[in-house]
Amino acid sequence: MGRVVVVGAGVIGLSCAVRLLEAGHRVDVLARDLPRETTSAVAAAIWYPYRAGPADRVLAWARASYDAFAAIAADQPGSGVRMQEGTEVVGRPSGLTREKPWWSAAVPDLRETVDVPAGYDGGWVFTAPLVEMPLYLDWLSAQVLSLGGSITRLNLHGLPPAGGGGPEAVVDCSGMGAKFLAADPSVRPVQGQVVLVEQVGLERWWLDSASEGPLYVVPRSHDIVVGGTSVDGEWSRTPSPEVASAILRRALRLVPELAGAKVLGHRVGLRPARPEVRLERVGDVVHCYGHGGAGVTLSWGCAREVAELLG
Ligand SMILES: Cc1cc2nc3c(=O)[nH]c(=O)nc-3n(C[C@H](O)[C@H](O)[C@H](O)COP(=O)(O)OP(=O)(O)OC[C@H]3O[C@@H](n4cnc5c(N)ncnc54)[C@H](O)[C@@H]3O)c2cc1C
Repeated sequence: MGRVVVVGAGVIGLSCAVRLLEAGHRVDVLARDLPRETTSAVAAAIWYPYRAGPADRVLAWARASYDAFAAIAADQPGSGVRMQEGTEVVGRPSGLTREKPWWSAAVPDLRETVDVPAGYDGGWVFTAPLVEMPLYLDWLSAQVLSLGGSITRLNLHGLPPAGGGGPEAVVDCSGMGAKFLAADPSVRPVQGQVVLVEQVGLERWWLDSASEGPLYVVPRSHDIVVGGTSVDGEWSRTPSPEVASAILRRALRLVPELAGAKVLGHRVGLRPARPEVRLERVGDVVHCYGHGGAGVTLSWGCAREVAELLG
């Protein structure tokens, strides 16, 4: 088993590093931004296959990740991962039974409900992994180090060459950075803003993926992530106060318990979107980027495939 350089220390790079280390490779992670500075640190993060394709591969990766998160939640209390039931609400013009969501095969306990707030017609209740990203990225980093890997801050102007005394293989998990490192013009930012509010005793998560922008309320140990927005092609990472107010106004209709909750902070991240996730081996380079709004949701499934591609 040879030495592998993983470029990127977001959820994709770190998950790939863990699976490669477990497979016996020597792994060095190189990244301009360390884990808590990445887009991954901004994610809500709830398991949900949002804004990523192609559907068949996404479903398989999401399913594998669901199982991996369930195992982590059961065995690793300090990881920031827990399994929690919640509701995805939907509006519909009639009381007719709808088709199950396209990703329903990935979750074991999906059921229809009419127990939803006023203004919605129904929804789906299911158990989803909730991933408290700052804690989880710390836990993932610790896994990389304890398995013998390294994480080094380095701003690269190109992917490191493989072979000829360098690493045997390079795994490109550079998210938005792949626009330049892989010269891939199809990678584009989809800006997302969230508001962090104080915990008001909320346990269940709530999601409305079909409204004018994604709307989600994700409880964590000490705060609640309330989102969000989805602005194609926007590069700014500066939170907008008007957008924050609109997010909170919409969220109140979904979760009235949030009324009066103190605002603790604002975050903006750029989802690394692409028409389809790129996960393929080209010579000694494995590209794994373009996970859009579902990088956490797809992380373990993709990491397993990357490890398989490198034998
Ligand atoms: C508001 C918001 C909410 C979200 N909620 C969810 C959610 O609930 N569930 C979910 O599954 N997903 C969610 N996402 C999406 C998720 O955050 C992304 O899909 C995921 O973070 C992508 O991970 P990544 O590791 O590919 O990229 P990143 O986390 O961006 O990491 C990329 C890494 O590559 C490095 N890099 C880039 N260029 C270079 C270079 N030139 N040299 C060296 N290193 C470089 C960076 O420094 C960084 O370390 C959300 C995103 C946002 C913005």
